[in-house]
Amino acid sequence: AIDSLEARIGAQTTEARRLSGQIVCGGGLRKALTTAQFDIENPATEEIIGSAPRCGIEDVNSAVDAASLAFRSWSATPARERGALLMRAADHLDGFREDIARLSSLETGNALPTQSRNEAGTMVDILRYFGGLAGEINGQTYPPDPGRLLYTRREALGVVGAIIPWNAPLMQLASKIAPALAAGNTVVLKPAEQAPLAVLRVFELLQAVLPPGVANAITGLGEEAGRLLCQHPAVRKISFTGSSAVGAMIMHYAADKIVPVTAELGGKNPNIVLADANIDRAARGILQGLRLQRQGQSCSAGTRIYIHDAIYDAVIERVLAGITSFRVGNPLDEATQVGCIVSRKQFDRVERYIEMARQTPGARILCGGQRPEGLDKGYYYSTTLIEGVPASSPVCRDEIFGPVATVSRFTDFETVLQEANDTPYGLAATIFTENLPAAFDFVSRIDAGFVQVNQFAVAEANIEYGGTKMSGMGRELSLASMIQHFTWSKTVIVNTSAA
Ligand code: NAD
Repeated sequence: AIDSLEARIGAQTTEARRLSGQIVCGGGLRKALTTAQFDIENPATEEIIGSAPRCGIEDVNSAVDAASLAFRSWSATPARERGALLMRAADHLDGFREDIARLSSLETGNALPTQSRNEAGTMVDILRYFGGLAGEINGQTYPPDPGRLLYTRREALGVVGAIIPWNAPLMQLASKIAPALAAGNTVVLKPAEQAPLAVLRVFELLQAVLPPGVANAITGLGEEAGRLLCQHPAVRKISFTGSSAVGAMIMHYAADKIVPVTAELGGKNPNIVLADANIDRAARGILQGLRLQRQGQSCSAGTRIYIHDAIYDAVIERVLAGITSFRVGNPLDEATQVGCIVSRKQFDRVERYIEMARQTPGARILCGGQRPEGLDKGYYYSTTLIEGVPASSPVCRDEIFGPVATVSRFTDFETVLQEANDTPYGLAATIFTENLPAAFDFVSRIDAGFVQVNQFAVAEANIEYGGTKMSGMGRELSLASMIQHFTWSKTVIVNTSAA
């Protein structure tokens, strides 16, 4: 068949080769100045599909220079004109959505039918949404004051340095560039080493609509290209998504030149089911919380599951049935619901934690704990639930970032709430209950930036998203976040008196 799995893989591998060695800088795809490269792998086959430039100071400088030059006219373009261009860029990307999604699946291992295709749609949606909002970036006027006019202007910050991970690159790139560009900034973005190609493709396509230098993408290693980008004096804002450890480093770079940082970091998110919860709904929510369309590689995944003793068995039974019903397979296969882990490194990390659980007295693996049958090549791993892990265990405390979650029984709400909060993270939290006062009590007392009651959904363009504690600072998406995090406020006082 023309669109067989082999043909899909072949077409995207050809595309990967075309993009190899390239960056998007100053208005088009071009060869990087550096000749150093690193390999990019298809995690489903463990084959090298291409390479990306290991950008150093020359490439970082040239991208930031291009963005600085473009900033002058882009920031001076009327806001609604900028917005119109972003909406046109969204329309343009929309026409290439399927190919972008396939390329992303090839390098991330995320399943095309359940993840990458939706993600490409979300990317377009986010660009459109912020394009439409460009005209809403308003300052404020102060109360009338005889003889004086007092107001604030929201101005663009300048060149934004954006750094993203590999788990949902299309959505992450849109969350960074759409509000940044709508607000009049220009961008240099560095994707993760594991998944730069679909990002380069998107930036290449953006050049058909956006003026040169407005949106640039460089590739490279975090501690090299990423660090140099953050440290560049002309980069006036850093927007980072990644691990808490790197987030802390980013804040150090920013501190040296006093520039603002938005940091979307890790999570170890509690998903709590009270005794009076609707059992089917809770089981569905737990399943959705496992974020299997990305093999659990989601910062908001509900990886600490707490179920009240009274309904524990009933909920677990449904969750286990759900997990085994998912079809694991090649990410580009139309029948696949769960793909594979992104890299050998992440795969080994998952195995290490599973091994740790096996060594833990009282811990029991309820499902998974191994590769799925018949999938011996590629970084496939069965979804794993572990019960009986003590709260103090790293299995229960660290963000594993894979298809692994712990499940615990509880009887007392106060105890489970305390345990839920007893973590350095504070990203997402979910509760299932039919008891409204209990739900709102939880909402007010849980340390999390994204709280859900009786559902488990995903981020949306118009809703603020972000964490507290070591899960980050600042917010992404929404009008409020764009204004707060991609503009600065200039206060103006005008003497309007005749004398
Ligand atoms: P990571 O922090 O290792 O890498 C993320 C990005 O930072 C990559 O592009 C990497 O090259 C770059 N980087 C690494 N070191 C750097 C340095 N010293 N200076 C500048 N840049 C550097 O994270 P990862 O393992 O690739 O991604 C997984 C992490 O991302 C998880 O912790 C996950 O929770 C987090 N994440 C958070 C969100 C959120 O919105 N809160 C969303 C997705 C992922």
